[in-house]
Amino acid sequence: MQLIWLRSDLRVNDNTALSAACERGPTVALWLASPGQWQAHDDAACKVDFWLRNLRDLRQSLEGLNIPLLVRRIDTWEQAAQTLLDVCRQHNIEAVHWNDEYGINENSRDQATRALLEASGVQAHSYLDQLLFRPGTVLTRSGDYFQVFSQFKKVCLEHLHRSLPSQAPRVKRQAPVGIASDPIPQHIDGFDKPSRTLSEYWPAGEDEAQARLARFVDETIEDYHHLRDLPAKPGTSQLSAYLAAGVVSPRQCLHAALASNRGEFDSGSTGTQTWINELLWREFYKHILTGYPQVSRHRAFRTHTESLPWRDAPADLEAWEQGRTGFPIIDAAMHQLLHTGWMHNRLRMIVAMFLSKNLLIDWRLGERHFMRHLIDGDLAANNGGWQWSASTGTDAVPYFRIFNPVSQSQRFDPQGHFIRHWVPELRGLDEKSVHLPTQNKDLFAENSYHRPIVDLSSSRQRALEAFKGLSRR
Ligand code: FAD
Repeated sequence: MQLIWLRSDLRVNDNTALSAACERGPTVALWLASPGQWQAHDDAACKVDFWLRNLRDLRQSLEGLNIPLLVRRIDTWEQAAQTLLDVCRQHNIEAVHWNDEYGINENSRDQATRALLEASGVQAHSYLDQLLFRPGTVLTRSGDYFQVFSQFKKVCLEHLHRSLPSQAPRVKRQAPVGIASDPIPQHIDGFDKPSRTLSEYWPAGEDEAQARLARFVDETIEDYHHLRDLPAKPGTSQLSAYLAAGVVSPRQCLHAALASNRGEFDSGSTGTQTWINELLWREFYKHILTGYPQVSRHRAFRTHTESLPWRDAPADLEAWEQGRTGFPIIDAAMHQLLHTGWMHNRLRMIVAMFLSKNLLIDWRLGERHFMRHLIDGDLAANNGGWQWSASTGTDAVPYFRIFNPVSQSQRFDPQGHFIRHWVPELRGLDEKSVHLPTQNKDLFAENSYHRPIVDLSSSRQRALEAFKGLSRR
């Protein structure tokens, strides 16, 4: 008997480890609930709920193939290896198969599991699945991991020219193995059930992910390069939660995009090329996580930025977290995050720069707040995005990367539609004042909106000084 250990690959189609297991013989699937580990990783309650909802859907698909899904509960990954071994003994498992995950804790968990299984006579097979390119295969001429995205991307495109990653063979229905599936928990203690509205934004299941992908490729990808920066428009795929949980694979995304562009990835439609570029950013940050493991340990990618004089300003942090900064675009974005578990990419950059530059608050506090609320929370992309915005990470240009939230708002939400949706107090304002209603005395007299918590120009200057100070040290 074979065992597929499911982790962030909650799908039946194009699942490398699942296909490999099924090709070798009758297969059983296993999923581990590890709430202590999730808490340590700041995994959001809405993300845990999304996993459970997807598992319910997956259990049905697996049962259609006569593959039972077992569920075991542990606290942290310390207990993963022994639990795997117990399941192997219980069901007479010959080999365990899993798709690689990246990050220090993920690596040590998998190494410990492999060692224990092999020492006990059970084979362990791991596969590249979550990425298009295995970390360590896209390197500089001198054999180092890239630190700059454009150079990384160039080598990725050369790889794609040589060969496109192919999808895993379809899994066939097996004969019944006489083992019953376990129930999927409705809820896990410590992770509150999210509101019904939040769950409705993100329906579970492979069919839903495929429908989103098809819709995006049919209706939007062509104009993606124009639409992707406008938060009031549905101009992006909204697939990140599905990619993070592995409900859809990056290969499925790549092939769907290519099919819409006559198989071309660096010519033809600008929209398609721009979207593939984003898939490569996803790739880049996971390679960074492997090549520069300090980023997994809450350390800055650029070590010298560790000495930045971050402000200890809990009231400002709380105002930012709750969307009470007095800057409409920031407040609208933070409300979007709290209500939907997702935030538009342009806004993620704006709010991250506002926190780390204008408020000069340590990016790690923002990274943690995001992780605790994002349904697509992903260590590599979140850490990469935060460090990029805070100029402590890859591609750092400290003196220039300070967005002005008001001009960003005027540029990317020109009519204020997004702001009015998420900050209803500002609904009555015109297109001009909706971006910074400081002249509107009535709003403040009635206490219906907040005064800006910081002066943009002097706080920008403060951030510049702090970064200049670094180079002097
Ligand atoms: P699309 O624009 O349709 O892009 C397609 C896919 O490409 C996304 O689903 C995602 O998997 C990937 N992608 C797109 N942009 C990026 C990027 N800049 N970096 C890495 N991958 C990318 N993305 C996450 O998946 N999880 C996170 O926790 C996360 N945290 C972020 C934090 C900050 C501060 C910033 C600036 C960005 C973060 N991102 C994160 C990247 C990006 O904002 C989201 O992937 C994107 O908004 C998801 O929406 P979408 O699926 O509609 O993206």
